[in-house]
Amino acid sequence: MDYSLCNGLANSNIGDLTILIILYDIMCQYHRNLLRRLADSPQSLPFPPGKKVYFGVGAFHISGHVPECFPRHSPHYIPGAGVVDGERCESLWATLNQVSPSVQVASLAARTELLDDHMLDSNWKKMLDIGTVWGHPRLHLSTDVTPSVPSTIKRFEKALKGSVDSEAYLVALEETLPEKSISTWEADMLNALEGRLSEAKAMDVFDTTLTKGTFPLSRRRSHIDAPPRSDMCREATGINEG
Ligand SMILES: [Zn+2]
Repeated sequence: MDYSLCNGLANSNIGDLTILIILYDIMCQYHRNLLRRLADSPQSLPFPPGKKVYFGVGAFHISGHVPECFPRHSPHYIPGAGVVDGERCESLWATLNQVSPSVQVASLAARTELLDDHMLDSNWKKMLDIGTVWGHPRLHLSTDVTPSVPSTIKRFEKALKGSVDSEAYLVALEETLPEKSISTWEADMLNALEGRLSEAKAMDVFDTTLTKGTFPLSRRRSHIDAPPRSDMCREATGINEG
């Protein structure tokens, strides 16, 4: 995994990007000691220096983690991540299902090569389609483009509209709140976002889990000893039988 991550980053076009968001199903466990592990690696695995790196867990998996993981690792709380599921190769499964009958009786090597061929073909088409669709403001796509690119563009359009709606909602909500509370919450948020880069626990301020209230024993006792409800009603209304 370390090898794949480092070489994937080394061979990708991250260039001058200053912020990286890396999502993985079990990132909450995996990224612990990652940099120390890489430094100790005998293979001297390269990890891009000088980047602000956010480690997160994809939306499909985060709900299966302990509750503390949600504010600490969900993409919802990563600045700039937007609403993203964090999955990529899974989107190929539907297309590859059409290939599966022809690999059922193949040997392991032949199956791997055939699936690899189809995935590389998909990547190639995506690369070509990106150039095509970005030039079209209304995204008039031909039917033979790889599904992944139009769906990404569709999500982008949806996100643009969503950001306008969310902004309007936030402004309306803030008008109902005391200014002092807003400035306190903003300061908490900035501290948490800065602190998370060294310690994920800093994000616990976003955890909305409530502590259960306690009910004093003396009050529980008096509640048990209270007269039956029907008697209480009679006393309250002054109605007596007979
Ligand atoms: Zn977790």
